[in-house]
Amino acid sequence: MQSHENQWIDISVLIRHGMPLWPGDPDIGLETAEKTVYRVTSLRISAHTGTHCDAPRHFFASGASIDAFPPEAGIGTARVIQTDGPVTEAALGQMGERLLFKGAPYIEPAAARAIAAAGVRLVGIDSLSVDPVESTEYAAHKILLGSGVWIVELLDLSAAMPGRYELICLPLKIFGSDGAPARAFLRRLAE
Ligand SMILES: [Zn+2]
Repeated sequence: MQSHENQWIDISVLIRHGMPLWPGDPDIGLETAEKTVYRVTSLRISAHTGTHCDAPRHFFASGASIDAFPPEAGIGTARVIQTDGPVTEAALGQMGERLLFKGAPYIEPAAARAIAAAGVRLVGIDSLSVDPVESTEYAAHKILLGSGVWIVELLDLSAAMPGRYELICLPLKIFGSDGAPARAFLRRLAE
């Protein structure tokens, strides 16, 4: 049964109080002001809150910032690969232009190098970071962003089975920023 074929799946997490945050980050500011006839919500969040893209500038001071995010990176065919563990080079298989890793706590440096060498445009992961949270080297970030591979972190891939999809993932256009929250969707394609 392919009952969900051609339906868009929202793979972005909710931005809300109590959501998963980078260790040590303060809770997000999300306040709604009630005016006389309308209401306005104000946000105080890191650019790396929720489902978000990392720009090369996150690790390279002269690297591209998020406002230069090319639509070709975030729109097109993508493959969801379930690893249920760190992303190893052996797990990569057939790569294509966009890869989303499900059940992956981080990407091993050798896998990041293979991804960069294959000309992948965008890599996504359903954890907080492509590097181990305790990492001080940030090898995967440096390899990927240094090779022009855009990164999207903290996806919700719970409803996306492994396979081939059409992806739309677009970060907010924030001047000079090293990252930005993104809304992302997948739609299943035939293999
Ligand atoms: Zn990151």
